[in-house]
Amino acid sequence: MQLRNSLCWSVLCFFLHSCAVSKSPLRTQVKQLQKGIIKDDSSYVYALPYDEGKTFRVIQGYFSRFTHKERAALDFNMKKGTRVTAAREGVVVRVKEDGYKGGLHKKYRSHGNNIVIQHPDGSRAGYWHFQHNGVVVNVGDTIKKGQLIGYSGKTGYAFVPHLHFLVWKTEKGNWQQIATRFQTSKGIRYLRSWKRYKRERTSLAVHNQQ
Ligand SMILES: [Zn+2]
Repeated sequence: MQLRNSLCWSVLCFFLHSCAVSKSPLRTQVKQLQKGIIKDDSSYVYALPYDEGKTFRVIQGYFSRFTHKERAALDFNMKKGTRVTAAREGVVVRVKEDGYKGGLHKKYRSHGNNIVIQHPDGSRAGYWHFQHNGVVVNVGDTIKKGQLIGYSGKTGYAFVPHLHFLVWKTEKGNWQQIATRFQTSKGIRYLRSWKRYKRERTSLAVHNQQ
């Protein structure tokens, strides 16, 4: 009887798990990009959204079961007050920094301080959960890649202090979240859950080129 119960329980868990996974065709595509099954050497290479020389862990990746079920988004584990930098150049199109509440409940979602930057190709990046008054850019500002844009926090729908990062592209007026490539200290990668990624120091290389 005991065995049967535990078997039933396992089957139930299995079903709950499989139901919880996104059915988005993008999820399969992202997995194949991460594993290198699909080759991508033409898309834009983003900078990790923090200072050079720093390393942070991705605590939630693309389409994960917890709060990213339908989201091609990344969560970087960061202590409150960490410097967040622009992953790509562009113009600031949205800023919110008056939120001061946060927690693991959807009722906090509207409190999430955020920045949205529009890139030259029309795509946009969103950065979420900045601390109260923790944004240092304004709507209309032109931002360079790697420029400081704010200080991380835990405002909005957030279980721990972290940076939620995502990119949208638009096709005929429909915005779609996409996975993007990043330059890491180990090369160009599609980031994965639970891995740590270091942003390499590049200023020296850039100076040498000039
Ligand atoms: Zn997130």
